[in-house]
This record gives sequence, structure tokens and C-alpha cells, in this order.
Amino acid sequence: MTNQNVVVSDAASGIGMAIKLAITNSVIYTSSAQKPPPSPGSYITISRKFPKKIETIETGQIPAASKINAWVDSMRASSPTHVRPAASIPDAGDYSSWMLNHPSAIDKFDQIIRASEGKQIVMFMDYDGTLSPIVEDPDKAFMSKEMRGAVRDAARHFPTAIVTGRCMDKVCNFVRLGELYYAGSHGMDIKGPATKTLKYKKNNPPMAFQPAKEFLPMIDEVYKILFEKTKSTEGALVENNKFCLSVHFRCVDEKSWAALAEQVKLVLNDYPKLELTPGRKVLEVRPAIKWDKGKALEFLLESLGYVNSDDVFPVYIGDDRTDEDAFKVLRNRGCGLGIIVSKVPKETSASYSLQEPSEVMWFLQRLVEWKRMSPRGGH
Ligand SMILES: [Mg+2]
Repeated sequence: MTNQNVVVSDAASGIGMAIKLAITNSVIYTSSAQKPPPSPGSYITISRKFPKKIETIETGQIPAASKINAWVDSMRASSPTHVRPAASIPDAGDYSSWMLNHPSAIDKFDQIIRASEGKQIVMFMDYDGTLSPIVEDPDKAFMSKEMRGAVRDAARHFPTAIVTGRCMDKVCNFVRLGELYYAGSHGMDIKGPATKTLKYKKNNPPMAFQPAKEFLPMIDEVYKILFEKTKSTEGALVENNKFCLSVHFRCVDEKSWAALAEQVKLVLNDYPKLELTPGRKVLEVRPAIKWDKGKALEFLLESLGYVNSDDVFPVYIGDDRTDEDAFKVLRNRGCGLGIIVSKVPKETSASYSLQEPSEVMWFLQRLVEWKRMSPRGGH
């Protein structure tokens, strides 16, 4: 395992004014407040204690025009326009030194397996750009049949979760596997597997948890406003991911990025309880609560009964800036490892790398193969 220390810039730093507020009663959650969803019916709440307090963050006022430039820089940094294969990166030296600190999880597969010895591997994966290719139309980010098979096989041997910015309905439609845990909307909409015949299961009942339920009406309202306001920007697309909104600018001319960012920020001026973060070709609008993919990872681990870091080896694979929260959690806990999916050097808290979804699939297949061959045969 590598132990590089990389400082990761905060996605929200472009705003530069996140202020922690005192916890309000309105965001105090207890297990009694968590009711099972009315459908699909098979889910029950779990005995785990839900977080009693979730901090809110006030995003403050919109920055002056000069800050918009910083925002556009941030959008560019999160959204490389041309993805180049590793071999053609001009400064091969940079790439080589980055790879020394973030070696290929395929090349170091045996090392990873040795590190997991005696522990339960738990798989966490982002969806877009990790299990599916990045495509122009976010509604067409389909995963291949082979990838679905690889994820299904992984889920039969290890607790496996998809942690995504997508809303629950969308990610479930794309993935269509009942064996998985899903954390949609950046972990704000969590549910457990519907299938009860999983090899690794230790009597953990399925779960359901929505830490930002009270924000739903506000998010719907802002969706309608953003939809109207961004209509005039050619190529802009606003997606309602239930607990967060995604303003896609993949198809927007780079010259219009600043105007689009300003438009979105002006709308959010009236909603200080929502915050804006840049992702890969997307601006994400989310409830300003201290809940992210990292918190979702911790919640899932605890729900699975792995409070003790010595018993578990979480592996988180993702390509997005929002995945860094999960990489940081693993790094800080000193348990498991993060794998970034990237063909280009990036600041990251992940320890290993994979270049693209096809390599993620290969990694999963190899993991399942190893489990099947191991003395206890997947038990
Ligand atoms: Mg992604």
C-alpha cells in the first residue's frame, strides 16, 4: 500500500465562504424518525443508531464577479475537455511520478489482496465514469452487459454498494441488480439489497435512510427555477436527482460556462441552505448538510456491522471529485483503500488507480476469481 500525502483541494473552495452553523432541531434525526419507505415494501429499518445530528452549512452570499472566474477555473479543472490516453500525455514524467504514488490496482492486485487478509472486503463503487462510460447524454450512460455481470458476481461474494450522485430511481434503472446496496443522490438516499440469499450476509437486515428528506420541496422548487433560467444556454441540461440537482454543461460551449455558473449562483442566492459544487462537466446543487459520499460509506459500513476497522477492508472505486470524500474517509481511518479511475494525473486521496471502466470490470472479475479460488470458497 502506498502512503503518499496529497492535499486535496475542497470542491467548495471556489465559493470560499462555507460557514458552519449551529445544529438546528430541524436536522436532528433519530432512529424513530426513520420510517421504511412505503414501497417496494421489503425494506425494514435497521437497529443501527442513525446519526443524531447532521450539521448544516450556510453557503452565504454569491461571490463578486471576480470569483466567477475562479469558479470557471474550477469547472475546467473538474472537466478536462480532452481525455488523452496515458501514453500521449505530453509530460510523461508527471504521469510516471503520479503512477508511482497511485499505482495500477491491476498491477498491484496481489498486494491489495495481501492487505485485505483476514478482513471482509466491502466494495463501494461510483456509477458514471466508473461502471459506465461518460457519454454526452446523461440519460444514456448505460453499463455494458459484461459490467453488469461483473458487478453481480462481486455482489454475490462481497457486500457491494453503488454510491452515486444520481437519484435512486435512475441508478437502479441503469444497474438493475437487486443484490446491491445503493446510495443515490451523493449518499442522501440509501437502501439495502432486496435479495436475501447473499453468501456474505450475517443477519443484517436491509436498510433505508434519507438524511436530507426535509429538503425535498425546496429542491423541487429550485429545479423548476433552474430549468427555466438555463433554457437560454444552449446545451445546458438540468437533471433532478431528487436530493440534488445536476446542471450538466457537457454540451455547453466553454465560452458560456461563466455565464451559466453565474446564472446558477444567482438562483442559489435565495437558497442559502443549498450549496453548489463542481463535478465532472456538471454543477451539483445539494442540501448544505454535512453529508457526502464519505459519510454514506461510513454509514453503510456501520450498518453492515463493521464498526471495528480491523474486521473490514473497504475498497472504494470512483472517478469524480465527490468521490474524494470517500477516499479521505478511508485514508483517515487507515482502513481499506481508494482507487481513482483516471487516465490523467489528478490530485486525489486515493491510493491506487485504474484507467477506465473496462479496467474496473477486470479488477472486479479478478477479485471474484480470487474469492472463488480461496480456501473458504466465498464464505
Ligand atoms: Mg463518476
